[in-house]
Amino acid sequence: MKMLVVNAGSSSLKFTVFERSDDNNLEVIAKGMVECIGLPQSNLIYEKIGSGKDKTALKNPGGKESIDHVDALGAVYEKLIDAEVGVIKDKSEIKAIGHRTVHGGEKVSESVLMTEEMKKIMTDCISLAPLHNPPNLSGIEACEKIFTGVPNVGVFDTAFHQTMKPEAFLYAIPYELYEEKGIRRYGFHGTSHRFVAKKTAEFLNKPLSELKLITCHIGNGASITAIKNGKVEDTSMGLTPLEGLMMGTRSGDIDPGVVFHLANTGMTVAEVDKTLNKKSGLQGIAGSSDMRAIIEQIESGDKKSELALKMFCRRIVKYIGAYTAVLNGVDAIIFTGGIGENSDTVREKILDSLGFIGVDYDRDLNSKTIKQDNTINLAKESSGIDVLVVPTDEELEIAIQSINVLKKNKML
Ligand code: ADP
Repeated sequence: MKMLVVNAGSSSLKFTVFERSDDNNLEVIAKGMVECIGLPQSNLIYEKIGSGKDKTALKNPGGKESIDHVDALGAVYEKLIDAEVGVIKDKSEIKAIGHRTVHGGEKVSESVLMTEEMKKIMTDCISLAPLHNPPNLSGIEACEKIFTGVPNVGVFDTAFHQTMKPEAFLYAIPYELYEEKGIRRYGFHGTSHRFVAKKTAEFLNKPLSELKLITCHIGNGASITAIKNGKVEDTSMGLTPLEGLMMGTRSGDIDPGVVFHLANTGMTVAEVDKTLNKKSGLQGIAGSSDMRAIIEQIESGDKKSELALKMFCRRIVKYIGAYTAVLNGVDAIIFTGGIGENSDTVREKILDSLGFIGVDYDRDLNSKTIKQDNTINLAKESSGIDVLVVPTDEELEIAIQSINVLKKNKML
């Protein structure tokens, strides 16, 4: 069986084709992306696994100024059925399409078949995810047009976090703002947190339903989640992905008073928004949002980069301490995401501060653990807490979730 995973953003559409073997293994057979959707010149980058990558400039159909998601997916489809580099004969070979969908609000606590009702729920959540839900919906509608009749499944970033209790998800602001406007913590990166939690349970050979985990998804966007018995107890991102950890360009936690102060002293709301989302975090302190560049700058003596790294790691340590308290102990701390998987420097700085809760880790193994495909346990025998580096794979988790949804609906 073959299936497609689609991640439709405002200017890009990423895709992965999986083939499920008889023993239920999912293998990637093609992947790629269309970039610069909505701009005058867009490209399709396509890779049939084992045959190399190619990049094609896309023509704008009917003299349009730019292509939309339907055009983009149409171009992907042409490649997928191409006699030379294609992986399917026609659309009937694709049995399911899994979509990365961002915001399902409070009505979505698991992955779901995309129906008109579900699309309405996503539309109702646009005000909560204005940059993500509209392109996600365009991706689903493009699939409905190009792969007519193939079931679409929505795998929501917010869904895994829906197990949080009100004391964790409510802000201490007038309750009516929650009731009337849905202002609460939703959390994001749920697909990744869920995937690495499941991998951790497999690796430790213990049921997820008996583990207390702190999963640190640290990439350009970063969030941290406390998971008890497979259910989210707390997570650092909030109403929007701005809250919580210091990130590539986002401030993370900040006194909300800063916003009023900046607005009262001359900045427009849009400028404050841009400052906190795009010009803050590592970028704001060290002038680069890229952790590799920060580490290089530190090596050449840059003090602001050193400060940025200290701030970045300190915030993570604070959250791990807080979540250890929330969970009343922790069995394993998990690092994932571009920085979590690859930066031994960041992990070392964090782990060196966690001796007080019983973390004892292998420094040599940590410094060797970069870009590996498998889960690695950095904890020493003597450590009271396992410390895992787990490569995340959101596409694979979307494929797994989609198959589960189809089975549940007796469509597979
Ligand atoms: P996104 O949130 O955009 O998916 P990623 O998970 O790809 O981000 O993470 C990007 C971050 O990972 C960047 O800050 C990048 O510098 C960092 N990164 C990737 N490889 C390394 C490495 N070897 N050492 C340090 N940082 C790395």
